[in-house]
Amino acid sequence: MKNQRRMFIQKTGMIGAAAAFSPHVLLSATNPKKEKLGVALVGLGYYSTDILAPALKLTSHCELKGIVTGSPEKIPKWQAKYGIEDKNVYNYENYEGIANNPDIDVIYIVLPPSMHAEYTIRGANTGKHIWCEKPMAPSVADCEAMIKACSANQVKLAIGYRCQHDPNIQAYMKVGQERPFGKVRMVTSAAGYFDGRTNHWKQNKALGGGVMGDMGVYALQGARLATGEEPISVLAQASTTRPEIYHEVEETMMFQLEFPSGARAACHTSFGINMNHLQVNYEKGWLKMEPHSAYSGNNGSMSDGTIINFPIENQQAKQMDEDALAIMNNTPMLVPGEEGLRDIKVVEAIYKSAQQNCMVNL
Ligand code: NAD
Repeated sequence: MKNQRRMFIQKTGMIGAAAAFSPHVLLSATNPKKEKLGVALVGLGYYSTDILAPALKLTSHCELKGIVTGSPEKIPKWQAKYGIEDKNVYNYENYEGIANNPDIDVIYIVLPPSMHAEYTIRGANTGKHIWCEKPMAPSVADCEAMIKACSANQVKLAIGYRCQHDPNIQAYMKVGQERPFGKVRMVTSAAGYFDGRTNHWKQNKALGGGVMGDMGVYALQGARLATGEEPISVLAQASTTRPEIYHEVEETMMFQLEFPSGARAACHTSFGINMNHLQVNYEKGWLKMEPHSAYSGNNGSMSDGTIINFPIENQQAKQMDEDALAIMNNTPMLVPGEEGLRDIKVVEAIYKSAQQNCMVNL
């Protein structure tokens, strides 16, 4: 295809830029200068164990120095695997002791969503920087309290939206901002997987479960990032095919969004269906991504023949290195708390729409 061109990562691209930067001043009361930030993972479940801890080994500007866990039986394995010293092991009660630990610069909250606000606020009060997993929190009020606590303690807050660090996602964000194909007319996005578990916090309302916060934020982000706009109204419908499991929270959510420019989005998310795609129809063209929010392999194409297929070694390592550099260089976080809050404002409206069976304006 002669008009087909490939988008190569530039030497000055994000991976190269991360390596080229040298840490200048580290804003930490306890550690005036460091080459790598010490990270403490809070919550040692799937994402910490299988994804973040191995990714930390691949980073250039971070190292896993501490753990915070309510499961003492996990401690010896983590200490043996990652060389974590006894003095850097905490539980949920003595967590505040991190305040006096110069080895730890960043606290990364990887707990069920209902615990994000408490552990972010307690963490910010220790004076350490905070990275918090998505969804930021179950409510707008929680998100605002998290932002306030980090601001009051003069620490940075980043939300674990790994995709925004992925150059393949940045490619469609750029099209949304520069609009080479004119205005966005319609976005279709989907994010879901079949979850066969029958007893997990994702099925528990009090712990912040429900597919909308867990996977729905990827479909929502697809629409928000592809348009570069914030929705002005939502219309949503929740459903389940497994009421014996999903009786407190929804298994599936379908939601429509309307944007100020007139663009519309039809979004789907589910714990019962494997799906991961994005399609954007513009006035004069289209863009398709499949997958669009995976850990790796996000790729797509555009109607002018452009292929979106940037190489990326490890999304989470890149995310953590870029967030570490933002702390070291005192520059803005790529995905600050305010971005997590923007999503939760829409998520709250989506739940209201589904419950009241009506359109909700934002
Ligand atoms: P998980 O269930 O595997 O782990 C949760 C951890 O929290 C466990 O270590 C558990 O012991 C601990 N915990 C403490 N109190 C608990 C309680 N009352 N109930 C249940 N667990 C409790 O979950 P996970 O998949 O690791 O998810 C953790 C966070 O990471 C969530 O916010 C999730 O959305 C996020 N996550 C993000 C991504 C991503 O791609 N960014 C991927 C997976 C998970």
